[in-house]
Amino acid sequence: LVRLRARLARSQNSLGKGLLTLLSREHLDEDTWEEIEETLLTADVGVAPTQELVDRLRERVRVLGTRTPEELKSLLREELIALLGTDFDRSVKTESDPGTPGVVMVVGVNGTGKTTTTGKLARVLVADGRSVVLGAADTFRAAAADQLQTWGERVGARTVRGPEGGDPASIAFDAVKEGIAEGADVVLIDTAGRLHTKTGLMDELGKVKRVVEKHGPLDEVLLVLDATTGQNGLVQARVFAEVVDITGIVLTKLDGTAKGGIVIAVQRELGVPVKLIGLGEGPDDLAPFEPAAFVDALIG
Ligand code: GDP
Repeated sequence: LVRLRARLARSQNSLGKGLLTLLSREHLDEDTWEEIEETLLTADVGVAPTQELVDRLRERVRVLGTRTPEELKSLLREELIALLGTDFDRSVKTESDPGTPGVVMVVGVNGTGKTTTTGKLARVLVADGRSVVLGAADTFRAAAADQLQTWGERVGARTVRGPEGGDPASIAFDAVKEGIAEGADVVLIDTAGRLHTKTGLMDELGKVKRVVEKHGPLDEVLLVLDATTGQNGLVQARVFAEVVDITGIVLTKLDGTAKGGIVIAVQRELGVPVKLIGLGEGPDDLAPFEPAAFVDALIG
């Protein structure tokens, strides 16, 4: 929690502390509620969830009457956790078909942290005793395959790659084939995320998905979003969700933003849980997303 708190310091300062300070005012007048709303919107919580939270807080504060700082804090904590949703299954699925490797496809716009996330996830799985094969199907960005292979060597996972500019789907196919041949536990497939034409993206990701499914079920499709891109990230998310069935969200670069509220907005937008969060560039900087821990880090 100490580490999470340190990494989320920017969101903690503006969102968590901001809300607590405002709620602690002796008179919660209209102006103060507007400031609370403003604070939530600035942190990218999104319009509808902000309204919901403010309504809930107003009602609860009214019922409570006089309030101690501790009461306010636990009230805010409860409401934020409720807003994040407690009934999502946030585990990353890797074993829907026993006897064959679990297959996880990682999608998202280039630069969001896809390759890094794939590498970090491999590390988590290997540390957990699972054998992992990486598929370097991002053939669009020249250095992506090298970058993934470096991660693979670092964590002890074989990387399947093809010629530069090669066909992503055939690399994905080969990676799963290799995973089966090796008796690997999990195959992680890094894909390319050029967004300039939706049909191009749709064709490519659809094809990758189809060839992977020739071998068996696709366990997870993780959408990687850069938390620092705010509303823009939501637009991207929508496009990807139209192209493939997203089963989980990875929100990266939460360490670099004061807009941690995007976690709430993006889940609301896609109806899909945030499963992992990126908290830095290092190998250990990928964490499971746990609403209670996240909220605790935000409001201290
Ligand atoms: P890709 O094009 O989507 O595969 O993006 P990369 O994996 O190459 O990442 C782009 C940049 O973002 C790299 O410099 C990464 O080190 C950095 N990055 C990825 N995840 C995080 C994160 O959680 N926090 C921070 N601060 N940087 C990150």
